[in-house]
Amino acid sequence: MSNEDKDMMGMGWKDLKPGFVVTEPGSASSYKTGDWRSERPVRANERCIKCGICYIYCPEGCVKETEDGFFEADLYYCKGCGICAHECPRGVITMEEEKEEGV
Ligand code: SF4
Ligand code: SF4
Repeated sequence: MSNEDKDMMGMGWKDLKPGFVVTEPGSASSYKTGDWRSERPVRANERCIKCGICYIYCPEGCVKETEDGFFEADLYYCKGCGICAHECPRGVITMEEEKEEGV
């Protein structure tokens, strides 16, 4: 344990230095979390039964229903966790390695 760590023992929360400040509410939507992704969900919609499970389970809330009742991920926010592919009962979604930079 470093001396700095030892000095921090016994500190109250008011003594801590600020590390991150949220200056306005609702700013999370401006973060392009899709940049974190190493794999993207790819769909074979001919097997899709439009059950919406991928929509329900996506932890990012980035799966949207399309006009024809299928679902697709908004790659601006999709982090590539693969939960939608894991939960899909029809094996519609496969995770494929990202080949390009960005979204
Ligand atoms: S890979 Fe993860 S973040 Fe992307 S759409 Fe599927 S569940 Fe959502
Ligand atoms: S979970 Fe699979 S079958 Fe259900 S809507 Fe999503 S892609 Fe289609």
